[in-house]
Amino acid sequence: TQVFNFSSGPAMLPKAVLEQVQAELLDWQGLGTSVMEISHRSKEFIAVAETAEQDLRDLLAIPAHYKVLFCQGGARAQFAAIPANLLGSAKHADYIDGGYWAHSAINEAQKFCTPNVIDIKTTENGKVALLPMNQWQLNDNAAYVHYCPNETIDGTAIDEEPDFGDRVVVADLSSTILSRPLDINRYGVIYAGAQKNIGPAGLTLVIVREDLLGKTLQQFPSVLDFKTLADNDSMFNTPPTFAWYLSGLVFKWLKAQGGIAAMAKHNQAKADLLYSTIDNSDFYRNTVLERNRSKMNVPFQLTDDKLDKLFLDESVAAGLHALKGHRVVGGMRASIYNAMPLEGVQALTNFMQDFAKRHG
Ligand code: PLP
Repeated sequence: TQVFNFSSGPAMLPKAVLEQVQAELLDWQGLGTSVMEISHRSKEFIAVAETAEQDLRDLLAIPAHYKVLFCQGGARAQFAAIPANLLGSAKHADYIDGGYWAHSAINEAQKFCTPNVIDIKTTENGKVALLPMNQWQLNDNAAYVHYCPNETIDGTAIDEEPDFGDRVVVADLSSTILSRPLDINRYGVIYAGAQKNIGPAGLTLVIVREDLLGKTLQQFPSVLDFKTLADNDSMFNTPPTFAWYLSGLVFKWLKAQGGIAAMAKHNQAKADLLYSTIDNSDFYRNTVLERNRSKMNVPFQLTDDKLDKLFLDESVAAGLHALKGHRVVGGMRASIYNAMPLEGVQALTNFMQDFAKRHG
C-alpha cells in the first residue's frame, strides 16, 4: 500500500522532490560528489543559496527591505533570539497566549524580559476558541507583540492578519508558512522551523524587517544575532547546506504547483474534506470553533477512546502513518501540510468512515 504520513514534523515532503534528490544525490551537477560534501562558499553552493532565497521571495512576495535568514536551532532558538534581538532597552513585550507553542515562547522570553501575557484562549458555543484580534489588549510599553498563528498541537489557528499600526508584530509561522498568502508588510519578524512545510529539520527561516536589526543584547550568541547573520548572508557559521538545498527544491516545486494561492486552495480542500468527515459522524469529534480551526493540523477524538489503539494499529496497516495525537492532548491528529496530496486525505477519510462502520 501507498504510505501517507500525517506526522506533525518532521513531516512528509513532496515525493517529486525526494525523487530528484535521490537521482542527483551521488553526482550533483556533474561534480562527482553530493551537494552536502561541497563548501558552502563554493560558487555552486552559493548559487543554490541565492536561488532558494529568490524563489522564497517570489513565493511570498517578500519586499526588498526585509532580510531572509537561513538559521539553525529550530523555532525554539527563536523563542530566545526574538527578545534578544528586538527588546533593545525595553523591558516588556506583548505575548499572546493562544496555545502550547505560544506559551513555550513566553516561558523562554521570561529569561530576557517581563512579558505582558495576553491570554486569548476562550470558549464560544461550548467550543475551543481564540479571541479575535480586535479584542487583544496590547500595551504601549511593549517592544513588540508575539503570537503564533497556527498552534500545531492544539489544532487552532488565527487566519486573520494583524493590523496593529506601528507595532512590531512577530509571528511563529512554523506550522503554517507557505500554506496560504501572507502580507509580509504587516510583520516585523516571521520565523519558522523548516521541518513541517519547508524541508528537512535543521533549518530555521527568519524574515526580518531591516530597520529592526542591530540592537541585539551584547552577550547573546552571534550565531543567533540577526544582524550578524544578515551581514554574512547567513554564512557566519557553516549553514545546514543539505537542508537549504532541499528547501530550495521545495520552493521550486511550490512554484510549479502554482505558488501559494494554489497551495491555499489545495489546503482548504483537504481541510474541508477532513473536518466535514469528522463533523458528519457521531464517532469522531473535533472541539475547535470553526473560525479557529487549523487547516494544517487537525486533532480529533474517537467518542470511545477505548478504540484509540485499534484505530492506530489499523490505520498504520492501511498505510496511514503517524496519526497518534500529541502526548499532551491524546486522541488523534492529522497534519496535512502542503506536501500531503488530496488522495492522502481521501484515503484517511475513507478509512475513518469504514472504521466507524465496523466499530460504531
Ligand atoms: N513553534 C511551533 C508552532 C511548532 O509547531 C514547533 C514544532 O515543533 C515549534 C515552535 C518548535 O520548533 P523546533 O522544534 O524547530 O524548535
